[in-house]
Amino acid sequence: MTLGELFRSSAESLMRGGNDNPRFEAEQLVMHTCSVGRTDILISPERVISNEQCARCAELVKRRLSGEPLQYLLGEWEFYGFPFIVGEGVLIPRQDTETLVELAAEYIENGAVIADLCAGSGCIGISLARITGCKALCYELSTEALGYLEKNIRLNGVESRVTAICADVLSARTASQSPGLNAVVTNPPYLTATDMSALQKEVTHEPKMALYGGEDGLEYYRRMIPLWTARLEHGGLFAAEIGINQERAVGEILRDCAIEPQYKNDCCGVCRVVYGIKK
Ligand code: GLN
Repeated sequence: MTLGELFRSSAESLMRGGNDNPRFEAEQLVMHTCSVGRTDILISPERVISNEQCARCAELVKRRLSGEPLQYLLGEWEFYGFPFIVGEGVLIPRQDTETLVELAAEYIENGAVIADLCAGSGCIGISLARITGCKALCYELSTEALGYLEKNIRLNGVESRVTAICADVLSARTASQSPGLNAVVTNPPYLTATDMSALQKEVTHEPKMALYGGEDGLEYYRRMIPLWTARLEHGGLFAAEIGINQERAVGEILRDCAIEPQYKNDCCGVCRVVYGIKK
């Protein structure tokens, strides 16, 4: 079989199976299994590929059609232009979260010390360390997710500035052991019980622990904001990603901790980040 034939047959299978983005996803799976770039598919469609590569690609197309996330099949995904290793057991970095990184990067200075709470793959803390030159303490409770976080620190070459810490950010003890911080950033689990009962098939493959924020989705904000804003230096930033329509409730929690809430929309016009500066 040739590269071009494999691409066409994969795109066709994905399309017939009801995939929303068959050409893009076929391209990604072919690039991954045949170790080629996007331009190779266009420029060298006649290139002959091995039966093994072909079979591996067909297998991934089948798994994709059964609902496994594309990102897990590829094993790596880009966030803010940086590479992150992903797979079963860790939340996939989402474009929505780039809004939080963009906002936080405006406030964080080179040499600052920040904490990324519920860090998962580490996409927030690692990106901020790369963009601003800050030091990041990435807290994650799941040992499975922590494995990805540690790999991503190495993959991004930030071992000297980013530290993975296995700890529960809702514990007062964890917070009390943190040094004084110039910023606290977080994308905690924030889905409600109702959201959890209506997840997209792909999302059911992701860890429930990274998604479920208690009955009303606000449990983490309620408990982490008092504990961690107390660790902020004067002039320090607290910034959290939120779910749709959570801005008022999370803004109130921040105000209760003497921080005036501000808000930032994502590129679709949805309020995605609640933040504020400690006086
Ligand atoms: N943005 C994720 C989703 O919609 C949720 C991530 C989270 O709970 N922080 O699936």
